[in-house]
Amino acid sequence: MKYRLGVLFNNKLAQRFGYIVTQKCSVCPGDDSALHILSRCQHPTISKMITERHNKAGRLKQLPKQLQRALAAPTSCSLTSPVPTNLQQMR
Ligand SMILES: [Zn+2]
Repeated sequence: MKYRLGVLFNNKLAQRFGYIVTQKCSVCPGDDSALHILSRCQHPTISKMITERHNKAGRLKQLPKQLQRALAAPTSCSLTSPVPTNLQQMR
């Protein structure tokens, strides 16, 4: 959310406001920015976290297709099966 609002604090902003002299990332050789934090940092641990988040998002994107397939698959319990006679009398 902070990224979307442009308030995710990073070294690029810190340099702009005069808090530090360089916008280099604290943990890798790249220049720091909001985008760098979310998707471009080269630090092995952070890079692994970014990849894991990417893969989870990809799996979530597949979920509606999996649900559609599951709903379309034939099952033993169908909504189109005839209503048992004892239940028909309850109507
Ligand atoms: Zn970095």
